[in-house]
Amino acid sequence: MIIVLLGPPGAGKGTQAARIMESRNLVQLSTGDMLRAAVAAGTDVGNKAKEFMAAGKLVTDEIVIGIIADRIEEDDCRDGFLLDGFPRTIAQAEALGKLLNDKGLKVDAVIEMKVEDESLVDRIAGRYTCADCKRGYHDTYLKPQKAGVCDGCGSTDFTRRADDNRETVTARLATYHTQTAPLLPFYEAQGVLRTIDGMVGIDDVTIQINNVLSAL
Ligand code: AMP
Repeated sequence: MIIVLLGPPGAGKGTQAARIMESRNLVQLSTGDMLRAAVAAGTDVGNKAKEFMAAGKLVTDEIVIGIIADRIEEDDCRDGFLLDGFPRTIAQAEALGKLLNDKGLKVDAVIEMKVEDESLVDRIAGRYTCADCKRGYHDTYLKPQKAGVCDGCGSTDFTRRADDNRETVTARLATYHTQTAPLLPFYEAQGVLRTIDGMVGIDDVTIQINNVLSAL
């Protein structure tokens, strides 16, 4: 099964992807995570991507398509995967279609997580991640059961993303509307778009996603 999670920054794609990954045994492919790892490691790709990410702009199609093309060749992608943050432009969606077509595969569903812009800045500004197992949390909406201790691995080390600040979020939202939102009619025309309400609680979003996946 090949699933795309689509939605603005802060819609909850990463949170839901982690849950689906566990319950459906699908690999989560997050281009954002891969790019952050490349930046941290100081690779060529990371050095090229860094400025774009800090400005809330998209990294070039060429870079992210190359990353995904390599990644989906790996063994763990054989039974399907869940794309989180890719594609983000029509050119990326077309390239993905071609990569999959060459393997006799296709995107089974694109799940749009619909969230109002007004709620996104608060969602993003409050989020943080376990530095060890990468589990995501939020100052208000998703706290660890024991304050300061990760539920997943017990670590007490947490990080916040450099681009999760109010100025960059505004730029990322604008980028979403101009460059990524055109994917909605693109996938609707292919009959694979499923829209869910991303404004409800985290568990209720998961239920809606599971309903979509069960119906496939
Ligand atoms: P994310 O973690 O998905 O919010 O991505 C963080 C940043 O990485 C974005 O603001 C972009 O700068 C970059 N990025 C992630 N995925 C893509 C993509 N598919 N195309 C271009 N840039 C991306």
